Amino acid sequence: MKKILVTGGAGFIGSHLCERLLNEGNEVICLDNFFTGNRKNVVHLLSNPYFELIRHDITMPFFVEVDEIYNLACPASPIHYQHNPIKTIKTSVMGAINMLGLAKRIKAKVLQASTSEVYGDPIIHPQTEDYWGNCNPIGKRSCYDEGKRCAESLFVNYHYQNNVRIKIARIFNTYGPGMSANDGRVVSNFIVQALKNQDITIFGEGKQTRSFQYIDDLVEGLIRLMNTGDNITGPVNIGNPDEFTILELAEQVLKITGSGSKIVHLPLPEDDPTQRQPDISQAKKILNNWYPKVKLNEGLIKTVEYFKHNS
Ligand code: NAD
Ligand code: UDP
Repeated sequence: MKKILVTGGAGFIGSHLCERLLNEGNEVICLDNFFTGNRKNVVHLLSNPYFELIRHDITMPFFVEVDEIYNLACPASPIHYQHNPIKTIKTSVMGAINMLGLAKRIKAKVLQASTSEVYGDPIIHPQTEDYWGNCNPIGKRSCYDEGKRCAESLFVNYHYQNNVRIKIARIFNTYGPGMSANDGRVVSNFIVQALKNQDITIFGEGKQTRSFQYIDDLVEGLIRLMNTGDNITGPVNIGNPDEFTILELAEQVLKITGSGSKIVHLPLPEDDPTQRQPDISQAKKILNNWYPKVKLNEGLIKTVEYFKHNS
């Protein structure tokens, strides 16, 4: 049995990860400041004697003895990370310093939840890990992109300078049951709008693309990455390469829900990436032939079912 710390554990991805780690027989400590996460996401785990939920903000140091740390704490939806951009930067940068300092002190392995956003509005397509990205350092998204890029730099430098055992997962757009109805990201927005027969809000023409990964595939990838040998320290894309336009996503949601909602177009937010698709050759190689198993249609059906009872 391992003792594992999950920061941001009461959020969408974190709560799924905590559950899976507990099911595999580990002891899990979940840290969260409940900014975008919610106790409700982990309430079903509270009766498990091997689960502990602690309210804590990772911009402040935290001390505990664990074997592994998954550092997931950070708002992930543009509306939430842009709400208090300075806090978003602090969460990524000071949070990484605090978790790396802890990992160094207790000799734990530490995994950073990085993001496809480090590629910005990518010129290379699909994105490989050796692409340095195309980010606007002073734009609306920079608090998130640059915070995550700085966190990656902190991770590799704690590894070079202090031999900390690190893992960096570059996560691509992930969705599924457990997302908050007011999360603000595209999949939850469209499903909730369709179920309520409200207008489906497409930003811009809807020709921009994303590659959507179902939550279970991500959790499997994260755990496999954590379990790789200490020689694996570079960033690894974890995402589903099936790429769709936002208009195609809206059409799929309308079909699955049978909704009468109409599509409306709103202005495209500043620096919204035009295309995004992970090259997952590295993940397949390093993560024991990991690949995403859940197709968008199948994942959307499960997510629609969830939101029928949770929106
Ligand atoms: P989420 O907003 O549901 O979860 C983030 C969690 O972190 C929340 O529970 C929130 O309360 C907590 N948190 C935020 N700031 C904190 C702080 N200072 N101290 C402690 N807790 C704090 O988002 P998510 O989709 O579950 O994302 C989890 C992680 O994965 C994030 O780091 C995000 O950047 C990364 N990621 C997610 C996606 C995706 O598509 N979901 C894609 C790329 C990267
Ligand atoms: N988007 C949209 N309508 C919405 C929410 C998002 O058209 O109600 C678009 C958004 O402009 C972007 C894409 O969907 O092009 C994905 O947005 P999301 O916020 O989910 O993720 P990110 O932009 O961070 O990849």
